[in-house]
Amino acid sequence: MTAPPATRILGTDAAAIAAAVRCLAAGGLVAFPTETVYGLGADAADGRAVARLYAAKGRPAFNPLIAHVTDIAAARALARFEADAARLAAAFWPGPLTLVLPKAAGCPVAELATAGLGTIAVRVPRHPVAQNILAAFGKPIAAPSANRSGHVSPTHAAHVLADLRGRVDLVIDGGATPVGVESSIVACLGEPALLRPGGVPREVLERTLGRRLAEPPRGADAAPAPPAPGMLASHYAPRTPLRLDVARVEPGEVLLAFGSTLAAGADKAARVENLSPRGDLIEAAANLFSHLRDLDAVGARCIAVMPVPHGGLGEAINDRLQRAARR
Ligand code: AMP
Ligand code: MG
Repeated sequence: MTAPPATRILGTDAAAIAAAVRCLAAGGLVAFPTETVYGLGADAADGRAVARLYAAKGRPAFNPLIAHVTDIAAARALARFEADAARLAAAFWPGPLTLVLPKAAGCPVAELATAGLGTIAVRVPRHPVAQNILAAFGKPIAAPSANRSGHVSPTHAAHVLADLRGRVDLVIDGGATPVGVESSIVACLGEPALLRPGGVPREVLERTLGRRLAEPPRGADAAPAPPAPGMLASHYAPRTPLRLDVARVEPGEVLLAFGSTLAAGADKAARVENLSPRGDLIEAAANLFSHLRDLDAVGARCIAVMPVPHGGLGEAINDRLQRAARR
């Protein structure tokens, strides 16, 4: 693991915005105010930066992150907008509304940031500091709330520091966040559905749509409604079965490897993808969904998966592998 960063704290002047942009471009983590709560930002196109973000939050699972952009035009490079989505975006962006949409072809956001899904959550925040950083960076920023996993969302820079000092590179202190609750999340993947109530009230969304919002869809495994608002009901699942913790690759299998010493029989596998030859969990997380996708495309009998250690991001990696194996 790399040494924990010394956390810098800056205001919101032009020099601070420039420092934030330099930090993001170098793959660093920057907490900044939005109108809802403080976000913890990383370059959304940089899988390693996104992996570091999950590690800093201590998330036990890879929930997909919201990609933040400056305006609707930038959002259209990431996601496809049908009529309902376009209407909501026109009415509430910039503002505390997140839309879950089909990913656009050529969407530059890292697979890890969308947890390997074919959909993406997008938002255009209204807060001037968030807007300044997004405009100066010129690329999407993945930003979950800037708190340790399981803690409440931060509405002051002091909350961010209490949770993340020494775990993030920079905190931009823009005072209290005006809305104070998270963004409303609406999925437009069919009938628009409210996945999480938030900064834009349901009635206001429904008035714009001209009809009621649907209930959140159930998971692919017909699981009951998600236990927490905004929680994802479905997850990325390869078509090929997975076999976990393998020491030996069987005939007809492809291999998802980890570390420098490959499982026995790896030389006979039709294809081998290594999450991290040097055994680095940050690198492994960044590669997880794209490697699974590549191995799935082979159409093999089974994807054999070598053991991945449990520390740090290993917990989230193993969580996803176990879900993919259960299907
Ligand atoms: P936070 O960033 O902490 O405000 O949380 C983001 C929320 O957005 C999480 O509850 C995610 O489950 C949800 N989310 C992000 N991407 C998607 C997606 N593609 N489909 C459904 N929910 C999503
Ligand atoms: Mg959160």
